[in-house]
Amino acid sequence: MQMFIAGEYTDTASGETTTIYDPATGEVVDTVPKGTAEDVKRAVAAAEEAAVEWGKFAPSKRGECLAEAARLVLDNEKELTQLLTKEQGKALRESVLEIRRFAHTLEHYAGMAKTLRGGYVKLADGRFGLIMHKPMGVVGSIVPWNFPVSLMGNKVGPALLAGNAMVIKPASTTPLAATRCVELVQQAGLPKGTINMVTGPGGDVGEEILRNPAIRKVGFTGATDTGKRIMEVASQQVKRVTLELGGSDPMIVCDDANIDRAVSAASVGRFFNCGQACLAVKRLYLYDGIADEFTDKLVEKVRKLRVGNGLTRGTMLGPLHTKAQREEVEDQMADAVKRGARVLVGGDRPKGDEFDKGNFLNPAVVVDVDPASKLLADEVFGPALPVVRIKSLEEGLALANDSIFGLGSSVWTQDIDKAMFAAEKLDAGYTWVNSAQIIYDELPFGGVKQSGVGKEHGNEAVEHYSEVKSVVVATEQTSEMVGGE
Ligand code: NDP
Repeated sequence: MQMFIAGEYTDTASGETTTIYDPATGEVVDTVPKGTAEDVKRAVAAAEEAAVEWGKFAPSKRGECLAEAARLVLDNEKELTQLLTKEQGKALRESVLEIRRFAHTLEHYAGMAKTLRGGYVKLADGRFGLIMHKPMGVVGSIVPWNFPVSLMGNKVGPALLAGNAMVIKPASTTPLAATRCVELVQQAGLPKGTINMVTGPGGDVGEEILRNPAIRKVGFTGATDTGKRIMEVASQQVKRVTLELGGSDPMIVCDDANIDRAVSAASVGRFFNCGQACLAVKRLYLYDGIADEFTDKLVEKVRKLRVGNGLTRGTMLGPLHTKAQREEVEDQMADAVKRGARVLVGGDRPKGDEFDKGNFLNPAVVVDVDPASKLLADEVFGPALPVVRIKSLEEGLALANDSIFGLGSSVWTQDIDKAMFAAEKLDAGYTWVNSAQIIYDELPFGGVKQSGVGKEHGNEAVEHYSEVKSVVVATEQTSEMVGGE
């Protein structure tokens, strides 16, 4: 596949390519151009031209285009899901959810199009003020490999609705489904060059997106350390950034909770996408009184999670995306065991021909975890869940908040007072009460502490992609009233 600039598939001038491998088999899926800063400059030039035209579209018309884009994506769901599973590794059923989520996000912002408003303010001396929301021009997006399409959608929906043109960089290992989605969005009636995809390394293509003066804002999702670098480079031009970074979400289960529902939420919340999600149940805090029943039920559920090639029917957990990712989780598990933890299930590599060439790992539940171990202190980006016993909500909240991260969190109790106390005290951008950690387009999403800056989803996302401008108007009459200007 080639990259997509100015409405056309194109190669990089250098002629270099990057090979994309299937994480389940190690086989080659495709190659893409290894783009450079020069390709970003080409894309920016196309986007600058397109932004002028796209910015003239009324928001209602932009909304129609987004709705059409969503339809085109859904029409091509089968091809897109196959592509996504082959390059990323996730189970096909999860690829279907991801492609549909991308389409739903476009639909959400299409639906918002007719509700966008500015403001009118009556001022002193007969003057009045207007509050305008203007497009920023060209904006950049940098996307990771765990949800290459839906995380791109969180940027595409609000950025395009606000009237901007885009230059997007996918992760080097997952450019295929995302590039095809970009082509489909472009086909939905947008001026050529409104949405561009430049494939290539973060240190080259990514850095040019940060440094190019024509790019006014960068929306980034990825690791916290990379986020710090993004902020540093973008600060040189006081460029606006939105950072969606790592997380280590606590889930607190009180002794009055509905255990079966909480067990399901823990299992889905930790093992969805083979645990490779920023927003995921990563630390489980159980009241002493229910801890044994809870872990027994959880282990029983986890044993049934079928690991395999994402393309095979019935697979629930695909491989980890890379060998390095699997080794990182294995290292975090080994560190916990060294400090006295017990692995109740999983944590080993499945055996057999179908697993030998892929990055597979059996999902794990780990108890008696020392607080200093990496499994609790670091972000765990894979299928391993540490369990900690607590004696009170206060203890659970103190442990939950003892983290550099603050993305998601959840609390399970039948007592509304306890639930609201926890919702207020949890240091996170999102708290679920008796609910699985599911993101809604209607609500703003974004972390506190080192989990990020700014919000995606919700009306807030559109504001992050708009310039707010004030205009004061004095008419002839006003000037006479106040004795001229
Ligand atoms: P990285 O931060 O390594 O990469 C994310 C993106 O940034 C990739 O496209 C990468 O390109 C690019 N990039 C890397 N270095 C630079 C640079 N110097 N300048 C500009 N761009 C750069 O994260 P991963 O892809 O490894 O994703 C996993 C991490 O992301 C996890 O830690 C996870 O917690 C976090 N994450 C957070 C989410 C959230 O919403 N909070 C959601 C998903 C993931 P390339 O691939 O070419 O290196």
